[in-house]
Amino acid sequence: MATTLLTEESKVELQERLFDWFEQNGRNFPWRSQPSPYAVLIAEKLLQQTAVIDKLVEVYNRIVDTYPTPRFLANADISTLEDIIQPLGLGYRAKELRDMANELIVRHNGEVPRDLKKLIELPGIGDYTARAVLSLAFGEDMPVVDTNIARFLYRMFGLKGTLPSNPARKRALIELAGRLIPKGHARNFNLALLDLCAQVCKANKPQCIECPVRPHCAYYAKGGLQCP
Ligand code: SF4
Repeated sequence: MATTLLTEESKVELQERLFDWFEQNGRNFPWRSQPSPYAVLIAEKLLQQTAVIDKLVEVYNRIVDTYPTPRFLANADISTLEDIIQPLGLGYRAKELRDMANELIVRHNGEVPRDLKKLIELPGIGDYTARAVLSLAFGEDMPVVDTNIARFLYRMFGLKGTLPSNPARKRALIELAGRLIPKGHARNFNLALLDLCAQVCKANKPQCIECPVRPHCAYYAKGGLQCP
């Protein structure tokens, strides 16, 4: 997997185009305006399992209002928590959320750990969510690759095959994403990519004509052929 399609100069231009677009089109979410590690952890945990953003914002607000810290969440009444997250169809995840908060209390003194391995050890937290927390809440230069960003990378670099499911291929994609990030700006770069994928580089119908980075995109250059 290579970034040879992009010279250093075009990489910088891609970054600038993406940031300019993000300034005008970035989405506003409560966990972005007040990105405490706990807020981002809750938001990313919910985002893992739903794409219904309007409902998700409501549910997120109710969770952080009712349980403003991990300690409150660790003591949550399960049926109350189930009711709060049920609008997302996630009632069955209530125990996992409470267990996660409990782990934060027992093992991390009520704080969200700033450590990839420790985050992944929390109940229900995978590699993507752990990276998202480190990048979006702690401001670390950490690439994040969910299915949408993986698709973006496949299209941008004209990668062949289906979206990756094996660990080695996933790692290669994360490394590729990491090489695109301007040093010290991973948070905004990752947010911009997530928003571009949600609004422009969509799964079924990418809106290439509206896309700020189309001059660099292999998929666009080939007329929308050959990439997932
Ligand atoms: S040009 Fe099209 S395929 Fe390429 S990144 Fe933009 S929206 Fe996605």
